[in-house]
Amino acid sequence: MMAAKIQDKNTLFETLITAAVDGIIVIDEKGTIEFYNDACRNLFGYGADEAIGRNIKMLMPSPYRQKHDTYLHNYQKTGEKKIIGIGREVVGQRKDGATFPMYLSVGEGTLGGRTVFVGIIHDLTPQHRSRQRLAELQEELLHVSRLGEMTQMVAALAHELNQPLAAIANYVKAAERMLDSVDDPQTPKIKQLVDKAATQTARTSQIIRRLCDFIEKRKSVRTTEDINAVLDEAMALAFVGAADANVTFQSRLAPGLPAVSMDKVQIQQVLVNLIRNAVEAMQEVKTRRLTITTRLAGPNFVEVSVSDTGPGLAPEVANRLFQPFVTTKEKGMGIGLAICQSIVEAHNGHLRAAPNEQGGMVFTVALPLTSDESSHVR
Ligand code: ADP
Repeated sequence: MMAAKIQDKNTLFETLITAAVDGIIVIDEKGTIEFYNDACRNLFGYGADEAIGRNIKMLMPSPYRQKHDTYLHNYQKTGEKKIIGIGREVVGQRKDGATFPMYLSVGEGTLGGRTVFVGIIHDLTPQHRSRQRLAELQEELLHVSRLGEMTQMVAALAHELNQPLAAIANYVKAAERMLDSVDDPQTPKIKQLVDKAATQTARTSQIIRRLCDFIEKRKSVRTTEDINAVLDEAMALAFVGAADANVTFQSRLAPGLPAVSMDKVQIQQVLVNLIRNAVEAMQEVKTRRLTITTRLAGPNFVEVSVSDTGPGLAPEVANRLFQPFVTTKEKGMGIGLAICQSIVEAHNGHLRAAPNEQGGMVFTVALPLTSDESSHVR
């Protein structure tokens, strides 16, 4: 390569510049564009004929557009580098006025004895889109999980309150009956008070019943989904914040699985919960292997299994795993698995926990296939 002929070098240069996916721009010390490769046309919408000879400011949105002359001037005066030699994420502006995120690295060079700056521009739009989608998903998930936790709490509370309330109602009724046989000038007054107590008790039961009705009527949005794609997003979500958990991760997703009708956000909530539980459980052990598989289970179900190499279930939770408020964690609420189970069952599926052959646990979610056989996912 070192011995390449001048002519070859020129060809190489041409090829590099035209084949580059990233934008390449050369400007002089004043910011005038001297070179502008083909990739820049796709990025900014201007052709080389429109850009060359004009100031680089045209590719920047406000307020950078107004400040750029000062940046260049300051650099020439003080030598203080803000971006030169380093590179960072900035915003570009297209010909149609739309802005987009880009990574800009700038190098300094000399061309015919003059100082020039070479900018290489990488479009960050796809990364930003997926980051944004991830943030949206997280937001959605947080919302349903809060809603789910609340729902579960209300249901559990309603259940707990109903029993003492029924007892109060019985005592009040008994007191009323007893008062019928008491002959005392105070009796009518006492009866009135007991009556009021009965009315308030009935009212309380009604409030609780209404609350339960409201929870049951919660809307669930069903769409037909590819379980592997749903799982992919759930995995991305589950690993946000678990990046330092030091877990070896393996997924075995069966291709071409039939579509499943589901409330996607709810099912993702289930999967995220199972993955997080698995990752958390493994923090106690040395070998941390998380395996996620999808498969067709018989003719009617698809299954997702989340298996870990953690310590397995603590004896005190083993028999009550899916009951609310069962936890071994200091800061745990113990309602994750209860919610998971109610979501999966509302989908006519089932959630099972079993010991993993290599130690640890396997949680398996089975979801029924959509009856429409034609809805195969390719
Ligand atoms: P929380 O995570 O708030 O405790 P969960 O309902 O999700 O609530 O889990 C209940 C309990 O089940 C956990 O506290 C833990 O003891 C146990 N558990 C859940 N997943 C696993 C797992 N993969 N391995 C071992 N124990 C688990």
